[in-house]
Amino acid sequence: MIDRINFLKDEINKHNYEYYVEDNPTISDFEYDKMFAELKKLEEEHPELQTPDSPTQRVGSISEKFLPYKHKYRLYSLDNTYNYEDLTVWYEKVCANFNGEVELVCELKIDGLAIALTYENGIFTTGVTRGDGVTGENITPNLKTVKAIPLKLFEDVNVEVRGEIYMPKTSFEKLNEENIARGEKPFANPRNAASGSVRQLDSSITAKRDLSIFVYNSSFENIENPPSTHYDSMMRLKKLGFKINPNIRLCRNISEAIEYCKEWETKRFDLDYATDGVVIKVNKLSYQEELGYTARAPKWATAFKFPPEEATTDLLDIELNIGKTGAVTPVAILKAVNLAGSTVARASLHNFDEIKRLDIRIGDKVVIKKAAEIIPKVIRVEAGEEHYNLPQYEVPAICPVCGAKLETRPDEVNLYCSNPQCPALLKAKLEFWVSSDAMDIDKIGPGIIEQLYNKGLVKNPIDLYKLKKEDFFKLDNVKEKSANNMFGSIQASKTRPLSRFLTALNIKHVGKETAEILANEFKTLDNLYHADSFVLRDIPNIGMKIAIEVREYFNNEKNLKYLDEFKALGINPVQEVERVSDILKGKTVVLTGTLTNMTRDEAQSVIKSMGGKPSSSVSKNTSFVIAGENPGSKFDKAKNLGVIILTEDEFLEMMKTNSLPSGIEEK
Ligand code: NAD
Repeated sequence: MIDRINFLKDEINKHNYEYYVEDNPTISDFEYDKMFAELKKLEEEHPELQTPDSPTQRVGSISEKFLPYKHKYRLYSLDNTYNYEDLTVWYEKVCANFNGEVELVCELKIDGLAIALTYENGIFTTGVTRGDGVTGENITPNLKTVKAIPLKLFEDVNVEVRGEIYMPKTSFEKLNEENIARGEKPFANPRNAASGSVRQLDSSITAKRDLSIFVYNSSFENIENPPSTHYDSMMRLKKLGFKINPNIRLCRNISEAIEYCKEWETKRFDLDYATDGVVIKVNKLSYQEELGYTARAPKWATAFKFPPEEATTDLLDIELNIGKTGAVTPVAILKAVNLAGSTVARASLHNFDEIKRLDIRIGDKVVIKKAAEIIPKVIRVEAGEEHYNLPQYEVPAICPVCGAKLETRPDEVNLYCSNPQCPALLKAKLEFWVSSDAMDIDKIGPGIIEQLYNKGLVKNPIDLYKLKKEDFFKLDNVKEKSANNMFGSIQASKTRPLSRFLTALNIKHVGKETAEILANEFKTLDNLYHADSFVLRDIPNIGMKIAIEVREYFNNEKNLKYLDEFKALGINPVQEVERVSDILKGKTVVLTGTLTNMTRDEAQSVIKSMGGKPSSSVSKNTSFVIAGENPGSKFDKAKNLGVIILTEDEFLEMMKTNSLPSGIEEK
């Protein structure tokens, strides 16, 4: 027992140093938290083995790089849990001290670096890291370069605020790209990038980094009508000029707080800053005082941590995948591991350059990461001694399926199979043809494609439409009903709109969105065939690159013969768009937040029916943004770029009157 405790203490201390002082963690937060929870449990069961130097009794660490600064108010960590049962137990314990349900405040847990800022008579005087909670590092000159930290408040108050310094995800990625280009080591995550940037000895380096802050706590010293709840104190901070996170929510009880956590488990991926959970705080300040603190955390608050986005596992093999363009991409075959709530056994390795850059070797321990719906990817190797004993990965020279030579193409990092009849390529094209983005033949999945191909029934999409119902009986376990379903879903796809057919054709640079633009513009394949490259180029969001590829496709005799075959089979797709008006012609519209009167899909259809183009990201070319409830980072970005923002009501008004609100015309 004592050995295990000592082992855990040593391990945790080592990781604390790597994380807090060197900004270079070597294990995931989830693994760290698991060790920490085990140590805490063992110490609770054997209090006689708990020592004052245990990491469970302390907060963070402090480096000797900066002048130490003793905090006026101690800074704490937070207890955390990864499950809702523990959260409920915490709440019940809290409520047991008071009469009935206790009101809570939910805030996103920003994954950055905790700091304390002191203001005297409204003027920013000192900025200090949390350090070990008692003493921090004085980094005032660096913090003065962070634009979101006010140097002067709107009132002459004495206040100390605590907040989280963070680096937006997009800036983090850009910084890492620059670091890699310079041959420097990239930061492991936005938290480490923020911490490393703000703890620079040279403030001019900090000034170049894109850092921001969300303030989440305060101690006022001389203020009229001091707030009596946490929520009110946050509103007060906002009024003073501090940046607080807009997603704060008052909850009547733990059920409402759990609802908030569930909501943000997925919504967090839309944000341009990293969050690793939700902080749940007792709202009444007098209750907070009564509940008090443990050695390292308040009893009046706790953190619900989201399932880990990163996990470490073994790389068992590297498989080669041949896509619908013939591109050969490496796929990591992993020892199955739980990641953000699902089991992962495969992950993307992007391309062979990436394998070389990360020096990934079969047999390595690798860290994988998941973000939003994106498939997990391998982000780094946990390089121990063993790594160097493994053979370096050799880029393949031939296609693993057909044995043809792999070739490079100008300006592309991918390798391609040089055989246009490669079975893997043909199957990938068929799979794409039936996919929900393309012709949406939902009763034919990859397994059926595999069988149809292997039995010589289908080689290309044309063959699908030549299949007779009886043909399906040649497949394994296919009875009358499923044969009908498969045959029926192929027949139904014959009348899909032109946009889907164009997507399915897999013309270079013509994805789903571009296909929709072209289909809406030309309505029929014949019209598109007759459009010259200049007409194509001048269509908004098309441009010369796409125009050239489309022309090349239609100038190729083989392709024209292929299209004629579809026609002969009765497939002559057209685009029927119910255009209500053209008032949004040439305009790009972005939706953010939740609309109350329609779904996002419905809103997008409305935009299209008025001739506009819905887009998922805000840029300076965005004509306007429609903001529903709880808008995300797109709202902030639009505000920063000066893009017009409409409310849902204004959008509804626009639909009703079929006219643009003033100010949009010029865009
Ligand atoms: P923490 O990050 O789990 O929680 C406390 C911190 O949350 C606060 O200090 C504050 O900075 C922050 N926070 C963000 N938003 C907040 C909000 N709205 N309200 C209040 N606080 C908010 O605790 P910690 O002590 O900073 O760090 C411990 C955690 O760090 C561990 O649980 C682990 O996840 C990670 N860690 C990882 C390693 C590693 O090697 N991977 C090592 C050490 C620590």
